[in-house]
Amino acid sequence: TKFKGGNGYSFFDPKQQTLLEIKTELESEIIRAIEGDEFCAHFQPQVDVNGKVSGAEALIRWNHPTKGLVPPYQFIPLAEQFGLIQKLQNIVLRDICLLLKELSKHAIIPPNYRIAINMAQNQFNSPTLKNELISILNEYQVSPHQIMLEITESMLSKDLSYTVQQMHELKAQGFTFSIDDFGTGYSCLSTLHAYPVDELKIDKSFIDNIENVQTGLPIVETIINLAKNLNISVMAEGVETEKQFSILKEKKTDGIQGYLVAKPMPAEDYITWHQGVTNS
Ligand code: C2E
Ligand code: CA
Ligand code: CA
Ligand code: CA
Repeated sequence: TKFKGGNGYSFFDPKQQTLLEIKTELESEIIRAIEGDEFCAHFQPQVDVNGKVSGAEALIRWNHPTKGLVPPYQFIPLAEQFGLIQKLQNIVLRDICLLLKELSKHAIIPPNYRIAINMAQNQFNSPTLKNELISILNEYQVSPHQIMLEITESMLSKDLSYTVQQMHELKAQGFTFSIDDFGTGYSCLSTLHAYPVDELKIDKSFIDNIENVQTGLPIVETIINLAKNLNISVMAEGVETEKQFSILKEKKTDGIQGYLVAKPMPAEDYITWHQGVTNS
């Protein structure tokens, strides 16, 4: 017999069962894809305002045999729920190491060149994070100085003392930190200085609106000034037009990332692109 609560919720709701089935199916699909080597990182260049390459951001891709390239928003949240995010993050970190190895063989790596990796919430909270990152980097003899960890404002708002300690331990190893999508979360401006942050990444939504001198530009200027006052560098993401670029340059943004420079690309294409801009 069916149990119905006062709010009409039924315990054996057939719809709920289907949802659970769908979730289980997706979970095994992701596991199968990990085993089948269907995930990899693509790389999007980051340049300074003079166009010199300063680094890249690694962005995960799922090369599905029938669905094609599946965008991260369709599986990252699920992987987090299923406790599979660490496995995916390790794939991305290994791809970063392999790229750095290849670059050191075939290209010029500028001083302070870094590759950024997006951190997931549960991963960042894990007490074993430091050891896991270090052990992979050691395998490839890559220095943490070449890795920038991108975290979001919501990760900062959780437990200040734990987060600050976690960040300091990672910084002591040589990792640097960027706050991704800055301005879109619940950033607590009064505590930002407490975190050892190296970079603020201005969210694309503000860049999209930068030409609006009433509602867009003041926000970008405010973020840049905040960063300068705290001695943090500023990266603009999602830069698509020359106009946006020239405004950002005039306002003294340090770095630029976006389709104007290049779209995210597979490692091999990134290497060719990188060689093209560093050898000229
Ligand atoms: P995000 O970290 O904010 O990454 C920037 C997104 O903007 C990327 O989408 C990138 O391809 C896209 N983008 C870059 N420049 C432009 C531009 O000029 N115009 C437009 N329209 N888009 C641009 P993507 O690769 O689909 O990633 C979406 C989100 O998925 C990321 O947002 C990040 O939150 C998450 N993600 C991606 N890779 C990873 C990963 O390895 N681990 C984790 N935990 N999350 C990831
Ligand atoms: Ca990011
Ligand atoms: Ca971002
Ligand atoms: Ca964003």
